[in-house]
Amino acid sequence: MAKLVALSLGWGVQSFTLAAMDALRACECEVCQRWSLRDFPRLDAAIHADTTWEREATYTFAWAMSPWLRERNVALYTVSDAKQAARVVEQSDPPFFTLAPQGTGSPSAPAEPGNSNVFMPAYSLDESGRRLTARKRKGQLKRQCTGRWKIDPIRRMLRAMMRERKIKRVRGAVEQWLGISMDELERSKDSDVQYIYHRYPLLELGMSRADCKTWLRAHNLPIPPKSRCKFCPYQDRNSWRRQRAMGGQDWAVAVQVDAAIRDKRPPHPLFVHRGRLPLEQAVEIIPLVALPPEESDDEDFSEGAACDSGYCFM
Ligand code: SF4
Repeated sequence: MAKLVALSLGWGVQSFTLAAMDALRACECEVCQRWSLRDFPRLDAAIHADTTWEREATYTFAWAMSPWLRERNVALYTVSDAKQAARVVEQSDPPFFTLAPQGTGSPSAPAEPGNSNVFMPAYSLDESGRRLTARKRKGQLKRQCTGRWKIDPIRRMLRAMMRERKIKRVRGAVEQWLGISMDELERSKDSDVQYIYHRYPLLELGMSRADCKTWLRAHNLPIPPKSRCKFCPYQDRNSWRRQRAMGGQDWAVAVQVDAAIRDKRPPHPLFVHRGRLPLEQAVEIIPLVALPPEESDDEDFSEGAACDSGYCFM
């Protein structure tokens, strides 16, 4: 039996639903008769790995809903990749967020001057301007961002909690909940370390993303925006168009990061847009009202591993 139960909280629809279900596990309403966590252990922690590059809407949502969760005894923690090898942020009120300036505290920031590391799955061209097709990557860098910015910081936090509680790092010592829903079944996968056991409560309850929204609405809770980095290369055309139409910091930072990674892997130029063009050329200007709702956006996790078991876009 696991000694520590922790949720990876991305502040998207699925993971927020799990946090809220943990908060309201005593509820006996009609919807909770169908979907409830009453047969699951109580969470010891809900841990958000803050890339520092989340969209503004996600930070706003997290700030708004953190007190609601904490008032209902959900222990929230936010961790971040940082120069201090194990930056583990204690529970604080309000919870810690690395909001601004963008990328501070993140040595693996995608566009730091002098940092040639590009951890996001950026697209590239060969010397003659063609897509790179060698190494089966089809002109796209290997995705390392999820591991560096999300999985590693969460694991550092889990190990710190285990040390504090004198929990031995034995097989299955940690039960880690991930917010994968029925419509994303293929994204679930086992943990690659023995001491962590991945659990998918939404799959066990047979809940889809739409069911999560039904549950949230039934409890008068807001629906979170999709959670992802401002410059995530996995976005589809309409998602980019919407980001451009909305403008503000999300678009400005994406354009900035796109330009900053261009020459990080000479001689191959890098881009955040799959069209392999500078972002402002690649994304058409379409009025927001002419675009379909955000919910219909598609993310491309064609590498097969998704963003590692629900850490991104959840
Ligand atoms: S949202 Fe995209 S860029 Fe951000 S960590 Fe996940 S895959 Fe990487």
